Amino acid sequence: MADPKLKQRKPLHLAKLHVHTGDTVLVLAGKDRGKRGKVLSTLPRANKVIVEGVNMVKKHVRAGAGVQAGIIDKTMPLHVSNVMVICTECGEPTRIAHERVPMGTDQKMRTRRVCKRCGKAIEEHTRE
Ligand SMILES: [Zn+2]
Repeated sequence: MADPKLKQRKPLHLAKLHVHTGDTVLVLAGKDRGKRGKVLSTLPRANKVIVEGVNMVKKHVRAGAGVQAGIIDKTMPLHVSNVMVICTECGEPTRIAHERVPMGTDQKMRTRRVCKRCGKAIEEHTRE
């Protein structure tokens, strides 16, 4: 770090991640390498994602107001570079392309994600 100011600079906007909530991803690194899981949430500010059942840690919790003491399993965030999106069409882990096409009833130009293997659009999972 040559310039200490460089570290403090905030991004003008947050780039969207190539991984979205609801995607199934393949874990590429860490103790859960090779595992597949569903993305529970994304943390664009940290470039991290939380994947169901991956990177679990045992957390010792003290008793507090309405909280029982004990050991709980907590899912820790993973860096996006350590996961690969699994295509909803071909079921293979793939890199993602972004494509702008007219979509929806108003036919407005919108961005969609496309599988680099089969070229089909990746299905989005809307939050319930
Ligand atoms: Zn595909």
